[in-house]
Amino acid sequence: MAASIIDGKEIAARRREQVRVRVAELKTRGVTPGLAVVIVGEDPASEVYVRMKEKACAEAGIYSEKHVLAADTSQSELLGLVGQLNARDEIHGVLVQLPLPDHIDEDAIIEAILPDKDVDGFHPISVGKMVIGQETFLPCTPHGVMVLLEESGVDLKGKEAVVVGRSNIVGKPVALMLLSKHATVTICHSRTEDLPGVCRRADVLVVAVGRPEMVKGDWVKEGAVVIDVGVNRTDDGLVGDVEFDAAAKRASAITPVPGGVGPMTIAMLMENTRVSAMRHAGLE
Ligand code: NDP
Repeated sequence: MAASIIDGKEIAARRREQVRVRVAELKTRGVTPGLAVVIVGEDPASEVYVRMKEKACAEAGIYSEKHVLAADTSQSELLGLVGQLNARDEIHGVLVQLPLPDHIDEDAIIEAILPDKDVDGFHPISVGKMVIGQETFLPCTPHGVMVLLEESGVDLKGKEAVVVGRSNIVGKPVALMLLSKHATVTICHSRTEDLPGVCRRADVLVVAVGRPEMVKGDWVKEGAVVIDVGVNRTDDGLVGDVEFDAAAKRASAITPVPGGVGPMTIAMLMENTRVSAMRHAGLE
């Protein structure tokens, strides 16, 4: 079986266009969504992500501002800036780009962001609400994975879903989101015994490990849907966590890297910012 390719670029572009149209409507009602992005120090990958976020905001009609702080900025200075952004009415989303320099406690910064401006969905209140199924901002990458599955017509009810990776930003939340759609979910990690055997049970296999092509083609069940969250820079360019060519021979559908999950993250961030602006304006 040759897998169909789940085109994240195309799906993300459609979602961003939807956001653009809805933002234009919001503007006619006097509301312009606003996103503040804070970056501390000079991490080249973070700088690329922040530029992409600014560009996406401009295309969606969302006001954005970038705060670039020196690498030696103290935790209290950063907390001061977050406090100012929290207090500004025209800013509906506050995002502090991770990772932060070692001398800053990331948890303290995430917890300082007002939950109702937490468009990254990392605040403990956002996470807690997600766990108990209350409406909240969903973290962008796992939410993007769910949109890819939905747009690909994958019915998760009763299916075996296996998530490889248990990070707070991808593995754990995507597992909860799959559970909320009634999949039977297994979460794997570095101590999992017989990882290939567990993966072979999966009707839906989501991989977020950060190891180039770790999941081999023959770990994929015939007809499974494979979502590869991994982004690994190698001498051969960007590759995912799944051995794509071999997996694509067995899967029914698979995401490519690049062009799969990656573009969805920013699309979902734009959507969260729009929703935050609506909520702040009492329009939802
Ligand atoms: P983390 O490093 O935080 O977590 C990796 C997870 O993989 C851990 O739970 C770890 O297990 C598990 N793991 C590591 N080695 C193995 C192994 N040999 N067998 C089984 N499990 C293993 O990574 P992230 O979740 O932040 O990111 C994962 C990947 O997704 C990365 O490539 C990252 O670049 C990418 N990513 C892409 C995004 C996007 O497309 N927009 C956004 C975020 C991430 P343990 O907990 O036991 O250590």
